Amino acid sequence: MITFDAVTKRYPDGTVAVDELSLDAPTGEITVFVGPSGCGKTTSLRMINRMIDATEGDILLDGKPVREIDPPTLRRGIGYVIQQAGLFPHRKIVDNIATVPRLLGWDRRKAHDRAMELLERVGLDSAMAERYPFQLSGGQQQRVGVARALAADPPVLLMDEPFSAVDPIVRTSLQDELLRLQAELHKTIVFVTHDIDEAIKLGDRVAVLRVGGRLAQLADPKTLLAE
Ligand code: ADP
Ligand code: ADP
Repeated sequence: MITFDAVTKRYPDGTVAVDELSLDAPTGEITVFVGPSGCGKTTSLRMINRMIDATEGDILLDGKPVREIDPPTLRRGIGYVIQQAGLFPHRKIVDNIATVPRLLGWDRRKAHDRAMELLERVGLDSAMAERYPFQLSGGQQQRVGVARALAADPPVLLMDEPFSAVDPIVRTSLQDELLRLQAELHKTIVFVTHDIDEAIKLGDRVAVLRVGGRLAQLADPKTLLAE
């Protein structure tokens, strides 16, 4: 479980991006942060894996403050997916997916097999393995981004608008794919989006933020649907 305990982030220029945010992202659930541009979604996500640190308050991972965990150790247990998959352009798809396991010291064979298994898991044909990122569509690249984030089997997955840059039909299939994967894998997922429909579809719980970084509502998506 990930817990935000009165977390505030004030950037050096004085901007308060996140303001006394308290909420739980339970193990095995998808917690969605939704709200307009600038409400502190990305900042909240980046504080979980310590790309940035909170100014006040604590983020706890299974009860332990993340500030007490050194970032490389912390990130070993956290997959991260962003809007533009951020694949390494000069590496084949299979090697892109195998990057983190290789960094963790897996041997080449094992990392390769794991990458091939994940390629299938995210709904891509094995023939994609030998291609380079530029030879894939945006939606396919996002699938590779998800596969790469899952490669070392981290318990936590952070997803920052992962499907926002693809066209609506592809987006729908990526969302369905994520729900299918999650039904098998039971990761602790924090998913950021500005799209309320996506939040309702994917979230086990939905945190609605407003500009200024305050929590407006923490809701069961069914109640949001009723409004
Ligand atoms: P969102 O992801 O919801 O669009 P962000 O977390 O990116 O929001 O940003 C929240 C607020 O913090 C915005 O007002 C943004 O301009 C500001 N902000 C983000 N990064 C920085 C930074 N490095 N320095 C100063 N202000 C920042
Ligand atoms: P950046 O240049 O954005 O700091 P890095 O070089 O740290 O990126 O990582 C490159 C990519 O690999 C990132 O997009 C990130 O999603 C992914 N990545 C890095 N570390 C991990 C990790 N421990 N687990 C999963 N993915 C990771």
